[in-house]
Amino acid sequence: MRTHIEGGWVVAFNGKTHAIHERGSVVFEDDRVVHAGSAWTGQADARIDAAGKLVSPGFINTHVHSTGPGGDYLLLDMAKNDYRGSNYMSFAAPLKGKMTPPPAAATAALRAFVFLHALKNGTTTIIDVGGLRGDWDGYARLVDDLGLRVYGSPPFRDRDTFMDAQGRLTYEEDVAAGRERLQEAVGFVKSFDKSAQGRLRGMLNAAQVETCTERLLREGKDAARTLDVPIHTHAGGNMIEFQRIMGEYRKTPVQFLADIGFLDERTLIGHGVFVAGHPWTAHPFGDDVRVLAERGATIGHCPYKYAKMAMTLRSFQRYLEAGVTLALGTDTFPLDIVSELRWASILAKTTDGNYQAGQHRDVFNAATLGGCRFLGRDDLGRLAPGAKADILLITLDHLGSFVYHDPIKALVDAASGRDVHTVIVDGKVLVQDGRLTRADEAEVYAKAAEATRRYWGNVASWRWDGAGVEQIIPPAFPVHRA
Ligand SMILES: [Zn+2]
Repeated sequence: MRTHIEGGWVVAFNGKTHAIHERGSVVFEDDRVVHAGSAWTGQADARIDAAGKLVSPGFINTHVHSTGPGGDYLLLDMAKNDYRGSNYMSFAAPLKGKMTPPPAAATAALRAFVFLHALKNGTTTIIDVGGLRGDWDGYARLVDDLGLRVYGSPPFRDRDTFMDAQGRLTYEEDVAAGRERLQEAVGFVKSFDKSAQGRLRGMLNAAQVETCTERLLREGKDAARTLDVPIHTHAGGNMIEFQRIMGEYRKTPVQFLADIGFLDERTLIGHGVFVAGHPWTAHPFGDDVRVLAERGATIGHCPYKYAKMAMTLRSFQRYLEAGVTLALGTDTFPLDIVSELRWASILAKTTDGNYQAGQHRDVFNAATLGGCRFLGRDDLGRLAPGAKADILLITLDHLGSFVYHDPIKALVDAASGRDVHTVIVDGKVLVQDGRLTRADEAEVYAKAAEATRRYWGNVASWRWDGAGVEQIIPPAFPVHRA
């Protein structure tokens, strides 16, 4: 089956760089691109009209927490008044023993919602850095049914986080539990890597640099090497973590990870914001950015989430010029990877006070090619013969793009996930005219809403102060619920 996408602005990869072809063509046969570039005159079995649209490689979203929006993201809302006091970090800490896992159906509903929401907003490859646990057969089936491309496995750590009755954060070490979780993750990779017609791939997730002992991080990285899969951890994500690692090892999180052999080309670091030289760390010594570049690790930059917390990389441009591989992710809600391009660009400029920073080219590269290095994939993030047919059609005309002579500038300056018209993964059309083709959106949303309501209803039972959602995060205005 050969399909010809014609008439759009085609972003084709020429082996060195993306290049734009006005009224170009992309032709794919089954799951692979056979032509990308200038207008094509050969035969095809099917035709997709892309007039007025950007024909782009699908974006690689390096930071998705499957099931996230029903859980931690709510409690990380920066509108909450005790943000700095009780939970100044990237994950929830309940009263010990009080947080019970939701029923399997709720987990499944949230997974489906997160995956489809990311997909509709332009993500074709999801890096799942951890969500609710359990029912991994169901997880694999879901990826298979929905048609998307996912890298993941259950995260592991051997220091769980709790709040005590006074709302103080505590870390509790359980080496055996950590090892069991690592084994669970290894088992996941062995069972499911390359399943779902090759779209579900294994990777390892050491949850957070400070919630893993040095030994577990080493064992995790060794396991990733043995399995030949990428590994992710959250590091440089918040100041609690930065100070804990400094206190434990007298090193920054980046230097610590480098010294234990965790950082290399197959390593993805979530965030990497708090590194030597970031003013909040008050730690000017060493050169973490150079270390990241030398080791070849990738930074999964989530600009919008961090901006909401009044934080950002210092800076996108400094990392880029040092040779660090930068990729993009959404992390928080909404999972709108298209808008992240604009956030990355604009924040780069304001952070440096330099309007030449955060160029359109560089943020587009981060959302495409940047995600490929740690994955070890040269057939994603680009449209070229032999590449996977992971393709987006993004409507540009209503953005005023007629007056742009560069569609990438129109995209970065003005587009959002709502402009994503068509999403193709592995040669299959999963979103058409902005609507899912393989799932009933209303049903997915209703189930996710129900699961989220249930989750919200339980928050007071495991919060250290018994506060409910409305107290933790006061709404913008009084809300009269139906
Ligand atoms: Zn995260």
